[in-house]
Amino acid sequence: MEKLARESLPNESCAFLLGRGTERIAIDEILAVKNAQATRVAFEIPADELLRAYGYAERKGLQVAGIFHSHPASPAPSGTDKRFMEINPVVWVIYSTTENRFAAWVYEESVRPVKMA
Ligand SMILES: [Zn+2]
Repeated sequence: MEKLARESLPNESCAFLLGRGTERIAIDEILAVKNAQATRVAFEIPADELLRAYGYAERKGLQVAGIFHSHPASPAPSGTDKRFMEINPVVWVIYSTTENRFAAWVYEESVRPVKMA
C-alpha cells in the first residue's frame, strides 16, 4: 500500500482491501482502483469500479473488508472521508505520504481509530 501511495503521487491513491474475518480481518488481496477525481486532495471511487471490486471479491470468496487511500497530509479522515465512511462502514486505512505512516478508522456511530496488526 505504501508503494501504491508513492507511485500515485501527487494524486491520492486508493484501493480495496479484500479479506476474510470479522473481529480480526486478514487481508488477502489489495485491489487498486482508479481515482476518478484524480486530485491531490480528494478521491472518488467510480461506481463501476465499486461494482467490479465487489463482483471480483464475491467470485474469490472474499469480502471488501476495507478501503485504502492516501493523503498528502495527516492520516486522519477528512470531512468527505467521514461522509463516505458513514455510507460504507468498512475499515478505512489512510496512508500519509508526508508523515509516512498508516492509520485505520471505522465508523461506528462516530469515527473511531482501529488497531492495525
Ligand atoms: Zn481522504
